[in-house]
Amino acid sequence: HAKENGRNTFQLFTSQMNDETNRIFTLEQRLRHALEQKHFVLYYQPLFDHGNDSVCGMEALVRWNDPEHGLIPPQEFIPVAEEIGLILPLGEWILREACRQSMAWQKQGLPALRISVNLSARQFRQKGLISMVQGILEETGMSANLLELEITESSLMHDADETLVKLRQLTEMGITLAIDDFGTGYSSLSYLKKFSVSRLKIDRDFVRDLCDDQDDAAIVSTIVAMASHLGLHTMAEGVETDAQLQALLDVGCRQFQGNLFSQPLPAAEVASLFDKPLNPSDHP
Ligand code: C2E
Ligand code: MG
Ligand code: MG
Ligand code: MG
Repeated sequence: HAKENGRNTFQLFTSQMNDETNRIFTLEQRLRHALEQKHFVLYYQPLFDHGNDSVCGMEALVRWNDPEHGLIPPQEFIPVAEEIGLILPLGEWILREACRQSMAWQKQGLPALRISVNLSARQFRQKGLISMVQGILEETGMSANLLELEITESSLMHDADETLVKLRQLTEMGITLAIDDFGTGYSSLSYLKKFSVSRLKIDRDFVRDLCDDQDDAAIVSTIVAMASHLGLHTMAEGVETDAQLQALLDVGCRQFQGNLFSQPLPAAEVASLFDKPLNPSDHP
């Protein structure tokens, strides 16, 4: 029996685990190790505003930089990090690193750009969220006005009262809020208005077939029109073709993210977007 065997149980159990359990187990250990060793890196994807025809921000996107396997995309480890709670320390590292990088760019003379950081549902629900965010802003010197937090619709659905308080606290600090992957959840637009959200990011799923699928086109057009009435910005995710861009412009969408504009870039490549040669002495 498991309890009676004490320490040996562990060995016994692992030898009987199926492949999937085993995979998660080793992934969990490797993730914990990676966090200790700081084997993570942030890439930055420029966000474009058609209104002033320029980069209006950057989304920080984490990659696991594994010495053995190279860069591992977030979808392969974020869900596990959420499940085992590791997303809390990892998410804190991500926020701190994004703020630190933003300040470094400003010191290098780049225009002060808004940085968007993804917040997982579990992070959003965590008790000390507000003081954690506040602490990082103070520690890095980052201006709250330059920070946007991206949350998914499902994060908002747990406890409406508590959510409302948290979102207010964040926006009162000067942070802006975006709803990520919008259209895949169940939130109503009036609800979002109440939640003091400023931007909806239309999920890539709707953008992908925009030009061929009448339903997707109708959904996108409706989101943009209603959001605009409520004073919310809409940003389309995953814009890859000129045809998609044109279709989005036709329905009034003005902000874009996607490979048509730029893929996510390592921090060192961001400066070249502004045609400003990096001063090598700026590097630590
Ligand atoms: P997301 O927040 O919706 O981020 C946008 C994703 O779409 C990114 O994938 C980006 O590389 C990808 N993308 C942007 N434009 C295009 C395009 O034109 N074509 C295609 N095919 N893809 C495009 P990525 O970096 O793999 O991130 C995937 C998801 O992982 C993110 O979706 C987000 O949910 C999560 N994630 C990434 N970084 C973080 C993080 O720092 N914290 C948390 N909690 N989640 C993160
Ligand atoms: Mg996002
Ligand atoms: Mg998204
Ligand atoms: Mg998405």
